[in-house]
Amino acid sequence: MPSKLSCFVITLLFAPFLSQCKSLQLLEQQPQATQQEANHTVSETTSLVRLIYFTPQDRPFRERIADQIELQMGVVQTFFADQMEAHGFGRKTFAFEIDGQGKTVVHRVKGQFPDKHYLHNTTGKVQKEISERFNLSKNVYMIVVDISDKYINRAMGFGTSHRGGQSGMLWIAKSGFQSRTIAHELGHAFGLLHDFRSERFLMSYGSFHLGSTRLENSQLSKEAAEFLDASRFFNPSRTFSSQFGPKIEIISSLEYPPNADSIRIIFELSDPDGLHQARFHTNPNITDKNLARFSRGSPAFKAAKRLTGQDMTVEFVYKLSKVDVQDLWLQVVDSQGHFGTKSFAVHLQK
Ligand SMILES: [Zn+2]
Repeated sequence: MPSKLSCFVITLLFAPFLSQCKSLQLLEQQPQATQQEANHTVSETTSLVRLIYFTPQDRPFRERIADQIELQMGVVQTFFADQMEAHGFGRKTFAFEIDGQGKTVVHRVKGQFPDKHYLHNTTGKVQKEISERFNLSKNVYMIVVDISDKYINRAMGFGTSHRGGQSGMLWIAKSGFQSRTIAHELGHAFGLLHDFRSERFLMSYGSFHLGSTRLENSQLSKEAAEFLDASRFFNPSRTFSSQFGPKIEIISSLEYPPNADSIRIIFELSDPDGLHQARFHTNPNITDKNLARFSRGSPAFKAAKRLTGQDMTVEFVYKLSKVDVQDLWLQVVDSQGHFGTKSFAVHLQK
């Protein structure tokens, strides 16, 4: 099996005393080799990022774009390895699909219709065609869409995670074809939600002022790194058996008295695979109207707790805001990177 093989190669070359392929950080001195070894061919057991370059029927494939996709992915892969290492998790990163010769695979998909057809509801139309060729319920798919418009669905990119972290998709438009956007959308595809606590964070929108709209000036938060540490995409050689995400129950009241400035919310969590992390999210508070358009009603990270064991009671204190709707989300991930999300709202006592 390819996964076993590359595990063996790493172990043999750099740590002959280790029987388990558990730490890529042993390869610190040779990060290039790490990432080469980390990539895999597609199989039943691997969890990879697969790359698709989509062009409408009347637009040509451009070799340059396919090369760029490969190049950008290398940069993004290294970014995640550097950031995971900086947070003490070793040079863990995702793997992408390679062929039998070890070359990165960029699948070229020719659309059934001309460019005009894909200018509205781009993702829906392209996904319909792609799903005929690929099993989208496994792996993460990055789809670079080469239509004449520089946006798709009025955005530079989108990313979503499916099946509790077992699969995901990201869409990259012409205007989003740079490493910062790819890494951000990839974060969504792995299950990370927005995090606006710092404009330096990858899961924020970045800031021109800080230069953090560029990947080299962006950071993965400590909590995001801890989340990814359990992700199946950051452990491509491990076998995963988890079928269910964690169970999340709220055991405290969701009503607060008129003069309260905060509310304590208590959760009961359980998962037979072992709990890993609980992540508390609230409505984003973004002042920039243009950016708020993209994030309205979607969760923004506030705080996380590291979990251990199969059952835990966890408490978060939410500082009430003046906004009338107090939408909240708790995302809980187990030790196999399988997560569940519970959305709820707190309200004033009647
Ligand atoms: Zn985003």
